[in-house]
Amino acid sequence: MAEPTFRAPKGTRDILPPESGRRRALVDRFADSAALSGFGEVVSPIFEDLGVFKRLGESTDIVTKEMFDFVDKGDPPQHLALRPELTASICRAYAEHRPIPPWKIWYEGPQFRYEQPQAGRYRQFTQVGVEILGADDPQADVDVIALGARFFESLGLRQVTLMVNSLGDESCRPAYMEALTAYLTDRVGDLSAQSQVTLERNPLRVLDSKRDEDQSIIDAAPVMVDFLGGETADHFDAVRSGLDELGIAYEISSRLVRGLDYYTRTTFEFAATALESAQNAVGGGGRYDGLVEDLGGPATPGIGFALGVDRILLACDAEDVFAAPGPSVSVFVVDVTGGSVALDACQRLRAGGIGADRAYGGRSMKAQMKVADRSGAPFAAIVGEDELAAGEVTLRDLRGESGQRRVALDDLVSDVRSLLSN
Ligand code: AMP
Repeated sequence: MAEPTFRAPKGTRDILPPESGRRRALVDRFADSAALSGFGEVVSPIFEDLGVFKRLGESTDIVTKEMFDFVDKGDPPQHLALRPELTASICRAYAEHRPIPPWKIWYEGPQFRYEQPQAGRYRQFTQVGVEILGADDPQADVDVIALGARFFESLGLRQVTLMVNSLGDESCRPAYMEALTAYLTDRVGDLSAQSQVTLERNPLRVLDSKRDEDQSIIDAAPVMVDFLGGETADHFDAVRSGLDELGIAYEISSRLVRGLDYYTRTTFEFAATALESAQNAVGGGGRYDGLVEDLGGPATPGIGFALGVDRILLACDAEDVFAAPGPSVSVFVVDVTGGSVALDACQRLRAGGIGADRAYGGRSMKAQMKVADRSGAPFAAIVGEDELAAGEVTLRDLRGESGQRRVALDDLVSDVRSLLSN
């Protein structure tokens, strides 16, 4: 094959059938479980004012290095950015529309981050997620985490671990930050060069480092949960006992600070252990009690998560679960009399809710039967001159043992329906 003139841009890819069908099935499954839990869908713009995302935090890689931002053609021009995640957009929408809290919403869609592409890491990727705005109750945290955990289970994934942590809030985090900063500053000479820079910007993020030279220092660092004040400690206890009550297994991970600066109190992450550890996060989230206010709205607590669809599908591959759905076409109409019967029969079948397809271009019986086979359809409806004259089709079982028989075109839909229900 000749080299194509263009390829999908670096870090992006085309998702083709049947994989695209599997992806759609996964998103639909998520939509169903979110709806069952009382969440409604929000569809927001793919780009926003850059300022919306700047609120994610000036020490966040997503904001400082990975933004796909651009200036539009307006007068004056507006500085916009493709969304790198959806929580900020949802909080912007909340501040703009002021829905009645608690606002329970779910979303799906592409996100954009200018990252170094590798397996499971793309510049355009899809997330599904939920947010609850306006509920401070730790049971909201439990409900949200449980929705994620049960969703992974429903896909058949067995090797997904849940890690939870509390990052405290403004009442107790400063004391922790002071202790952490003092601890890390004392050992700055032993930290990796990268972590030395991170320490200057946000000491918490040093705990995120995966570099070997940082590990022993991180392992012995002070942990946030030891610094939680009365209320934040109670909140964290309530989240843990809620998860225990529901029988949801989790580990407490004091290193779980997550990549975004807006988190307060509960944070959590799901890791698919069947994947390489560098890219095994399949989702994560937490509380962001200050974000709506930061975006100009009323003080509103929030909790949610985003799951990475592309990576979840890689995890499904690794565990050999959640296969692509089978063919959606039940009948392939093979018409060697010019195609008009195929046109009519396909319309009748589709109107009756039965998937139907056909070949184009008046090809030979042999060529059309080959396409019928490839379509995966269990039945072929064959139209030759005899059938045309009699107003019938020959219905052939392409997979099972029931052979073939002639049926009146007018009975085709009901005949196929009863065959399919057997
Ligand atoms: P985050 O918004 O960073 O918390 O990411 C939530 C989830 O989105 C992660 O756990 C990943 O599954 C997925 N994700 C984040 N970045 C990427 C990326 N560049 N490529 C593919 N999936 C990603």
